[in-house]
Amino acid sequence: MTTNEHIMKTYAPLDITFEHGEGVYLWDTDKQQYLDALCGIAVCSLGHAHPAITKTICEQAAKLLHTSNLYQIDKQQHLADQLCEISGMSRVFFSNSGAEANEAAIKIARLYGHQQNIKNPSIIVMENSFHGRTMATLSATGSRKVQAGFEPLVQGFVRAPYNDIQSIKNIAENNNDVVAILVEPIQGESGVNVPDQDYLNQLREICDQQNWLLMLDEIQTGMGRTGQWFAFQHNNIQPDVMTLAKALGNGVPIGACLANEKASEIMHPGNHGSTFGGNPLACATASTVIDTIKSEDLISNAKKLGTYMLSGLTERLSPLDGVREIRGLGLMIGIELDNDQLNHDCSELVQLALEQQLLINVTAGNVIRLLPPLIINQQQADIIINTVSELVISSLQKAVA
Ligand SMILES: *Cc1c(COP(=O)(O)O)cnc(C)c1O
Repeated sequence: MTTNEHIMKTYAPLDITFEHGEGVYLWDTDKQQYLDALCGIAVCSLGHAHPAITKTICEQAAKLLHTSNLYQIDKQQHLADQLCEISGMSRVFFSNSGAEANEAAIKIARLYGHQQNIKNPSIIVMENSFHGRTMATLSATGSRKVQAGFEPLVQGFVRAPYNDIQSIKNIAENNNDVVAILVEPIQGESGVNVPDQDYLNQLREICDQQNWLLMLDEIQTGMGRTGQWFAFQHNNIQPDVMTLAKALGNGVPIGACLANEKASEIMHPGNHGSTFGGNPLACATASTVIDTIKSEDLISNAKKLGTYMLSGLTERLSPLDGVREIRGLGLMIGIELDNDQLNHDCSELVQLALEQQLLINVTAGNVIRLLPPLIINQQQADIIINTVSELVISSLQKAVA
């Protein structure tokens, strides 16, 4: 038996270890089977041990893991071609994580400002946003919990309430240093907050008027999760910059910062870099992720099963007093509970679900978050709907009793 006594205490993990997985299922070290409705926080969208991914990793590992960005990397070029084709963007910078992808976006925005002789370029970021744990991205993040203790924060961020266009217009009138908006199309970590349907369109319009860059953090919403390759495609707009990570490598670490012609021209040799970023292993894997999403028609599956799950959960749970809202898009679903009416602390529902052999997540203190793999079928969706509904119902009943 191993222990975590030499692991730095940045997490408080549940007392469970998984040994292997297949598709939507995981098995723990006691051979117990679990249905994974979280997939490593929106990472393993193709499920676990997908044969196409395993094959690519093995073949690429046998050929070449790493050279350097000092040389041409054909796997990186091919992945960039694919990403630009599905997104309509022009060029890609590859990183190893989401936070690093956002760092690249922040650096693009600052260079863009300095090009216009703005000495202290600022980026508008939102309340309750999440952009990562590096110094710049935690400063951009709209959560005091993430920032507390790490002051001094990185400067150059102006904060606005999410889904509030008027506040952006007010900033535009009063602040001449703004160069960009960085925003999640749906806020993930703070509870699957879905903005008004035309929110992104309105942000696009303001950015055009003000000559600001619209930078979308699609690290959680991207790669088919919401029923489109990228969430902005529900709005028929194009961002200037978009960041990806999480599902891009289905578990192999990779992030990406995509830019349109205007934004990508800002970066020149020497401005940015990463030793590991864009290595052949990660890029070959991500290319297979894209190929597999296409060949298995997983985006329409995400749309179909997402709608099915949202309506099933709404039918079962929305009549209940202790359930505030059920919301989401595609296979990104949040169930907001009224903690005061629960028998348990909301986070205890994770443990109770585990006992029912189901992996779920609770975020923002009172939101059950479901991020099942895009390969999920209707029967598995029914199990999630039933198990989650029964857990919530029994937790509310016990509280009344
Ligand atoms: C997970 C996440 C990040 C951070 O990604 P890491 O790979 O953990 O650095 C940033 N933004 C959003 C929206 C995320 O969901």
